[in-house]
Amino acid sequence: MMKRMIGLLLAAALMLSAAALAEGIDYLALVNKQHQLPEGWEDSLEIVEVTNSVDQKVEVEKKTYEAYLALAEELEREDGIHIELDSGRRSVAEQQEIRDNFMVKYGEEYTRKTVAVPGYSEHQTGLAIDLYFITADGTTVYYNEDLTKEEYYGVWDKIHEKLAKNGFILRYLKGKEGVTDYDYEPWHLRYIDDPELAREIMEKSLTLEEYLGEAAALPAYVYPFAGENPVMAAAAEYLVTADLGCEPEEGGVLIPAPIVLKEETGETEATLWGNFWVFAYKLNGSILECTAGGENPGVMKLEKKDGKWQVVSLELAEDGADFDAGIRAFANGDAELEKAYYLSSGADEGYLPQYRRSFIVEYVNANKLDGVAYQDNGWEPVDITM
Ligand SMILES: [Zn+2]
Repeated sequence: MMKRMIGLLLAAALMLSAAALAEGIDYLALVNKQHQLPEGWEDSLEIVEVTNSVDQKVEVEKKTYEAYLALAEELEREDGIHIELDSGRRSVAEQQEIRDNFMVKYGEEYTRKTVAVPGYSEHQTGLAIDLYFITADGTTVYYNEDLTKEEYYGVWDKIHEKLAKNGFILRYLKGKEGVTDYDYEPWHLRYIDDPELAREIMEKSLTLEEYLGEAAALPAYVYPFAGENPVMAAAAEYLVTADLGCEPEEGGVLIPAPIVLKEETGETEATLWGNFWVFAYKLNGSILECTAGGENPGVMKLEKKDGKWQVVSLELAEDGADFDAGIRAFANGDAELEKAYYLSSGADEGYLPQYRRSFIVEYVNANKLDGVAYQDNGWEPVDITM
């Protein structure tokens, strides 16, 4: 009797844990280049393994697979389109392998845009699937470069029409590359387990980031060489936090480009004469688009308190008619310094381009960003990889 009771209790406990596991999946979880796979995700995942038409094993989360089957059946029946699963869930090791293969086949730039860093791939959720298809004449259309051919636009339209109904959304939309940081991928679907919500998201052409209100945000600016130059670190970080009339857009970042013309640094006090430029950028694909910016010629005073440098004042030259008088006052009879102030003031010539570029390169490198260029409104992008 006792044994039987324990057996029943155990069975109940197992059923309970199965229910808890089923509840464990957040079908709206956001995994992208900024958001890592949630901790413990894989423990609560129920996986189905299937074999596709080219004999590859594909793993997919259970409900996602059921929804995929319904989608495939509908497409076959109503449109004569035969879809297949190219890839579903990938482990970290598989993701690394794909990245390595793409590097060899397509090069670094395409790979950075197309294949996520292991841990930051939506495929690791089990809720993302990539499709390929077989045409009516039996041709397997499998590779990215074939799947994106114009002759198949109509096939994708038909596939996309049926996504929401089956609980899927298209994840990397055309024209939303700046939000997702991925090129358009007609084949990459994401299961969200809610046809109503999927319809709303698809009808409004939203990305999951936009629906969740989380644009791919750029990391905040931090001076990368604080150990070697603590005064400069304090100055640069002050410029991106002080209110200098230059604000980044949602998800954007301020990157300073201070041009220090003269410096006097003592034990506990420092003075910097210079033009303290600040620029706001947002990421659009691999380009840092400049959305605002301006110069701040002046004199900055810093003090070392409790072992840490901090800015105590920034006196700026006034705009317009008083500008020259301000510069003259800062230079205080030093003709070379006065001349340097003017050379630091032009946006396209003089000292600025070189300073600005080096601060951007340092920021991009420190944050391992995909950005390879920056661009001012109405100008060509400036390559920073060369
Ligand atoms: Zn994919």
